[in-house]
Amino acid sequence: IDKATTFIQPMPSQSAPIALPNYVAGELRLPSSPSTTYIDSFEPKTGRLLYSLPCTQPNDVEEAIQHARSAFRTWSKTSRSERSRHLRRVSDLLQEHRELFAVWESIDQGKTLERARIEVDRAISNFSYFSTYILHEQTAARMADGVALTYEHRSPAGVFALISPWNMPLYLLTWKIAPCIAFGCTAVAKPSEITSMSAYLLGILLQKAGLPPGVVNIVLGDGATTGAALVASPLIEGVSFTGGTATGIAIRRATAHQIRKHLSLELGGKNPTLIFADAMADASTRKHAIRTAASAAFENQGEICLCGSRIYVERSVYEPFVDAFTLYVRDKYSVGKGSMGAVASLQHYNKIRGYLQLAVEENATFRLGAVPPMLRENSNQGYWIEPTILTDVAPASALQKDEIFGPVVTITPFDTEEEAIRLANASEYGLAAVLLTTDGARMRRVGEQIEAGLVWVNCWLVRELGTPFGGMKNSGTGREGGEYSRDVFTVVRTLHLPA
Ligand code: NAD
Repeated sequence: IDKATTFIQPMPSQSAPIALPNYVAGELRLPSSPSTTYIDSFEPKTGRLLYSLPCTQPNDVEEAIQHARSAFRTWSKTSRSERSRHLRRVSDLLQEHRELFAVWESIDQGKTLERARIEVDRAISNFSYFSTYILHEQTAARMADGVALTYEHRSPAGVFALISPWNMPLYLLTWKIAPCIAFGCTAVAKPSEITSMSAYLLGILLQKAGLPPGVVNIVLGDGATTGAALVASPLIEGVSFTGGTATGIAIRRATAHQIRKHLSLELGGKNPTLIFADAMADASTRKHAIRTAASAAFENQGEICLCGSRIYVERSVYEPFVDAFTLYVRDKYSVGKGSMGAVASLQHYNKIRGYLQLAVEENATFRLGAVPPMLRENSNQGYWIEPTILTDVAPASALQKDEIFGPVVTITPFDTEEEAIRLANASEYGLAAVLLTTDGARMRRVGEQIEAGLVWVNCWLVRELGTPFGGMKNSGTGREGGEYSRDVFTVVRTLHLPA
């Protein structure tokens, strides 16, 4: 963005040549605390050291919160039309710099450039959607028994901690920043320490867009130091968090005594894909079923919380499905074919590798894939894992229970609709599900019994930004999107006026 490199700082001490700065009070600068340590970040496709980022210490986090607090006094009173113009400008600038963001997101996260472009487009939509949403908002008014007119009045809740994971860095961070500032709140945002590049670029873009200083602050760092300090601060009025369930629990625990704090927790998933025999009945539905199940499983290397990693297939079409699915996945998603990126970090590579070793120990059948080689740290090898299809995996296996969050699926047969529903719901998670069938009555009958916040019938990842997004069970608390985001970022009072 103009000269994005101007803001990159020479590394004070460690091994990486450059350090990304925070974006605080409208300025791009390294934290001032002398005790700041630095975290190295690696390029997943090559394993090379790319940059360092500060692990922002609690006193610098506090300073960012103070800036957000003082900006809140003005921003919360800024007219909707003016806030809307600011969001529009950010959206336009992102559009202008789409390719720069996409290229860096792909380098930093490991995803393909094509996938990164889709996510930058979605980030652009996040700002444009909420820029217009706030102009058309309605308020509910009622006559209470003819004696009082009542109406709901909402005001911005305060300063928010916005914390995001590494799988869709820019998209998920902007999914929080856009509604937060649209509804008049201010933010201290923290991207994942594994993928901080697009958040850094976003800071430059927000500065260029002329967003008033302090409205959005971005602090870089890890969860244990930076994230924990942010969440725990009594000056933080709410937390919008996307990440793993264990971290969601830690955040709940850390804030349990702060009843006032709004918590929106978007957590992990282990999502089922159900394939009924009718979906495999003719050539065109069969092709659609295979493609949909494959993209749900392997898009972004399986590193999307909504990926369908447990596939259940009606027994009468089980073998033909497994064969055709395996052929299709081998053709489209094998490493080198262009649809598969590298997984995000060495640590994540090792985690997935551990599950594949478990598959060997449990005598699962590898229809596709194998245990990848062990990588040595600093060996400059990329974190590539072939798409892996496992069958003959017991329902109680960790392979069927845990969120692997990589390019690994299990396929299991079922005999009846009831069994399919039971298997789909046999999980601590309840984020998303895919249902492939041509039977209209079944779409509703099964769809309405699946314990998941999002059920896609004959499609996957279709999103309308006003629909409630979030999970059941251990996949989270609360919903985001349109009016649901408004609930997260505002406080409501009901006024009663005598008639
Ligand atoms: P993670 O929970 O390890 O980290 C997420 C973020 O939280 C990071 O920025 C991290 O630094 C921060 N963090 C960690 N500990 C913290 C603490 N104690 N206090 C405050 N912040 C802390 O998750 P991850 O490994 O980065 O991401 C993968 C997970 O995210 C998967 O479980 C995936 O399903 C989930 N996810 C969910 C959704 C959704 O919408 N439900 C979307 C994408 C990813």
